[in-house]
Amino acid sequence: MYTVRVGKPDPRFGNMLLEQFGGANGELAAAMQYSIQGINCEDLARKDLLMDIGTEELSHLEIVGTLARMHLKPMKKNREAAEADPLIAIAGGGGVSLCNSMGNAWTADYLKITGELDVDLRSNIAAEARAKIVYERLINFTDDAGTKAALQFLMTREITHMKAFMAALESMGKDPLVIGELPPTPDLVIKFFNDSTGEGENGEKDFRGPWNETDVEYIEAPAQKIASVSAGAITQEIVKGSRNSSYRSNSDRKIRKK
Ligand code: MN
Ligand code: MN
Repeated sequence: MYTVRVGKPDPRFGNMLLEQFGGANGELAAAMQYSIQGINCEDLARKDLLMDIGTEELSHLEIVGTLARMHLKPMKKNREAAEADPLIAIAGGGGVSLCNSMGNAWTADYLKITGELDVDLRSNIAAEARAKIVYERLINFTDDAGTKAALQFLMTREITHMKAFMAALESMGKDPLVIGELPPTPDLVIKFFNDSTGEGENGEKDFRGPWNETDVEYIEAPAQKIASVSAGAITQEIVKGSRNSSYRSNSDRKIRKK
């Protein structure tokens, strides 16, 4: 899909690029996630979409892998370059392997595959958003024009994918809050608990917004109420104990009887 050109190799940047090669939000993870969701998919139109984008992600793996390889190449012979990523330099001779930027091996644990099409499409929209932000950070960390252009290409395609997944989800015509078949418990689903209380050092306090105002029953600090009730009970118990010694344990009493 794209011809990669690099001006001056930057081994440290090559190491960062591995995040998009063998990392959690990288191209192999995307390719595998969509392709395997596609194999499982019984909706033929959206199966085709998953297979199309899954295959395109494989071509992105080739692009980002080639880009990383061009930046890592000097590591094979140059000691200073090798220090940017000793694993790649010593064990891999400056070639890419399926690891992230910290040298952790790629794993299928990165994949989000639930077998429920709308749930999977939401995961994919989030995955594209993560890939986009990682590419943006990479673009901000290089001055090489050819590298920037390749990353701009990859970053742009992730937005295209995100848009396609959003359209596929929306066209299913499902209420976004209806997941699976079992309905939630009506009087429980509407409750919003103000579970975090007190004031933080940056002046953060309890805020209200559509998330805890619209169609919800707002419940003020439930844990604090329970805590103050049980703290009161403990205080009462201690006061009582000091009067009639009921605070003593049973074994204590047995010893006294003897
Ligand atoms: Mn991609
Ligand atoms: Mn993508």
